[in-house]
Parts: sequence; C-alpha cells; structure tokens
Amino acid sequence: MSYAGPDFDPPQPRRPRRGPLTVALAALVPGALLGWLVYETVGGGGADGSAGTVGPATRTAGASASPTAPTSAEDDEKPSGSTAPAPTGAAPSTSVPAVSGPLTGKVVVIDPGHNQGNFQHTAEINRKVDIGTNAKECDTTGTATDAGYTEARFTLDVAHRMRTLLEEQGATVRLTQDGDRPYGPCVDERARIGNAAHADAVVSVHADGSAAGNRGFHVILPGSVRAGAADTRAIVAPSRDLGERVAGNFVRATGSGPSDYIGSGTGLVTRTDLGGLNLSTVPKVFIECGNMRDSKDAALLTSGAWRQKAAQGISEGIVSFLRG
Ligand code: ZN
Repeated sequence: MSYAGPDFDPPQPRRPRRGPLTVALAALVPGALLGWLVYETVGGGGADGSAGTVGPATRTAGASASPTAPTSAEDDEKPSGSTAPAPTGAAPSTSVPAVSGPLTGKVVVIDPGHNQGNFQHTAEINRKVDIGTNAKECDTTGTATDAGYTEARFTLDVAHRMRTLLEEQGATVRLTQDGDRPYGPCVDERARIGNAAHADAVVSVHADGSAAGNRGFHVILPGSVRAGAADTRAIVAPSRDLGERVAGNFVRATGSGPSDYIGSGTGLVTRTDLGGLNLSTVPKVFIECGNMRDSKDAALLTSGAWRQKAAQGISEGIVSFLRG
C-alpha cells in the first residue's frame, strides 16, 4: 500500500511475516550510519544536550484519559491570538524553565501527533480545515500496533520525555496538546500554536502505519509551498537543518536505521501536503519514529526504555539546531 502519511494513517493490510530476521539490525545500522556521517560533521553528533542518565518524564498526567465531555468544534476555530501563550508562558501546557542552560530563552513546541480522544470524535476530526494548499481533515485517529497500543499514546509519552530533557537545558517548552482536550487540535491549530509561541523549533512526533515488514524512522521536512495562508519559503532551509540534526541524533541515540520503505535510505522525506507543515512560519519537522504495524518496530515503540532513547535523540537534535 502506498504511504499516506501522518495526517492520514489508514490501517494497512497485514502481510505474512517474514521469516527469521532477514535484515539483521547489525547489518542495517552500519549502512545507515554511513549516511549519517554527514550529520556528525555538521554538528548532529555533538554531545550537547545529552542526558543519558535522565529517567522517564515525571509529568504524565492525563495521558490515558478518555475524555467524554461534550465540546464544540469552535475549539478548533479560535483565532491563534486567543490561544497563544505569552512568551514567558503562563498557559497550562507551557513550562517555566526551572533551570538555566544552553537553551535559556529558547522556545520549543512539541506537537504530539493525534489524540486519544479522536476515536470518540470522528465527526469533529473529519471536518475539513484550510491548509492553504487545499482543505484537509482536521485531524486523524492515528495508527496503532497490532496489540492496540495507539500512536496517540506513543506520541504523548515521547513528548513528555522530550519536555523533561529540554527543560533541563533551560528551554521553554509548550505542547500542542497534553491529553487535556477531548480531541485534536486540528492540524491548522497545531501549526498556529507553534507560530503564536514564536517557537525557535517545532517537532511533531508520530509513528507510522505502514505495511508489516517495513521498518525504520523518517523525518518529514516542509517543501516549498505558497498558496492561501501557506507560505513555507522562509522555513524550508532551517527546517531541513533541524530535520537533519534530529535524524542524525535519532540514529545515534536509538540505533534504529532510517526507513527502508520511504526516503531512499536517507531517513528524510519532503512533503507539501501536510497542514502542520504548510501553515508553519517557524522551523518545523515531523518525525515518524517507526512503523507500528511491523512487529519488530512495534516491540521498540512499546518499550519505555526505547522511547526514552527516542526522546533523547530528538531532543539532542533540537539542542544541536538551536545552538547552531
Ligand atoms: Zn501520525
């Protein structure tokens, strides 16, 4: 099946499992690392931001909640000004840096893809929003492992771990959702939150729903678009820099290889059809951390220890980008 991406992750038909591991990780990783040497040379391999001894995030409240409160679609139509936090951050999802560090004064927005509540709000998330280039669904449910571990749970958990790591570096961190709303936000609002926060970097966290047997991560970069409210020309280059550093550090922290089904082995994919990227005015990338529909990738994605490594890799890429 063709890859549809993070704004639409349809269930994929299961294929017969491969036999014994045909592509040993030990064989995959060196090949991947060759490609990542470039990142090491451009700063992706810097030790800044590493926090290998940090434990899991301590703030996980609300992650598994299943909100039932009625809501209005207007929640996704508020002008950005009404939801934008002050730069110093007084909103519930915005952190106040507890420590000073190399990222003091920097604002990072983490966008946990999807929302556990989306499954109960299909009408709301299926309505179309304007992403500049065209109209697209407000949000999607996301995918899940065969055992039912949802992408929304995964993304929020990784986001919490990232927030802890980035706050330790002094960054002000905001999440676009923190399990604190019934569904969404819509993809246009997710973009606006980063814009309104004047974020220095935004990373949207996802896991893919491709066919079993497809493995690895990839980072999605904004392509150049100018249509309607979308104008990414100013962010294409810095977003690529951010994405390359995130990819390089993700390899180093997790040992996972770049996707073997998209991106031609580079772990980088450029897209112009995602509202979350098209409407962004600040450097932003998506990362698909692995393929939830593949049993081997799923074993990683469902491991808290692996998610900590993933969070470290992404965070170290952000730190590298912000330190230049
Ligand atoms: Zn997704």
